[in-house]
Amino acid sequence: MVAILGPLLIGATVAGSAYLGHRFELAHFHILGVIPFGALLIGAAATIGVVLTIWLTSNYDTSNFRLAGQIGGAAAYCAVIFLDFLGTPARAGVVGAARVLGFEHYLAAIADQEAQAIIAFLPSFLQLPPGLQIWTGIVALLVEILGAAVATGWTISVLTGVPFCVTNRRFYSLKGIAESGDLDGLAEWERAIAEHRPIEGRAIFARFHMAGVKPGTREWVRVAVHQCPVCLSSRVRIEPRHRIVGLVRTGRGRDLTLDARGSAAIPD
Ligand SMILES: [Zn+2]
Repeated sequence: MVAILGPLLIGATVAGSAYLGHRFELAHFHILGVIPFGALLIGAAATIGVVLTIWLTSNYDTSNFRLAGQIGGAAAYCAVIFLDFLGTPARAGVVGAARVLGFEHYLAAIADQEAQAIIAFLPSFLQLPPGLQIWTGIVALLVEILGAAVATGWTISVLTGVPFCVTNRRFYSLKGIAESGDLDGLAEWERAIAEHRPIEGRAIFARFHMAGVKPGTREWVRVAVHQCPVCLSSRVRIEPRHRIVGLVRTGRGRDLTLDARGSAAIPD
């Protein structure tokens, strides 16, 4: 069911955000001529489907979900531009005139518009040669698409409870997920952390991971590790899982917060 529901939800929110982005003319909405605020909004909205799928499947921000979100965000932004193209009246200035000539002329006119918006914020002694103007516009367009993709990552992180490292101003990344029925091994690992024995901890965790979930196992745990790539602090979430009539249920988890020293007890 999830295999159908996920793509449906993702497709629906991408289409919905593209429609709303076009409706409210967000594709070229900047703050101070630079910050692609409209593109960020489109990207964030397009990611809701990915977030819902993660919630419904009690999953994590794995690289596949991130990729789906980023492609969705960039696709939604491009779709907004195309919808704008279709919706531009032919008699509305330079951009409207380019609309009659075709999509590539429309894109060139949009790039020019973007360049003008940036140039308006440059000091008057700094004038760009005309050849460079169009490239400025194209780079600006690419930055917007990138902005939509970046916003998807942020949205997934915020809405799925990924920790944020205040010191280094970045979200933790998912280091790994392990499922295992070796509950004694887990207890032993936690003891090793509490007693500051990271080297042994690594070996114990590796054994715990290796044990895995045997076909007959009814109850086991899932351990998900998020880590700050700079200071190496981690958040470890431990969740009980069990199977009821073929469906895997996830219980309420508990969190361990580890500093860089404690994190050393987690193998790469
Ligand atoms: Zn950090």
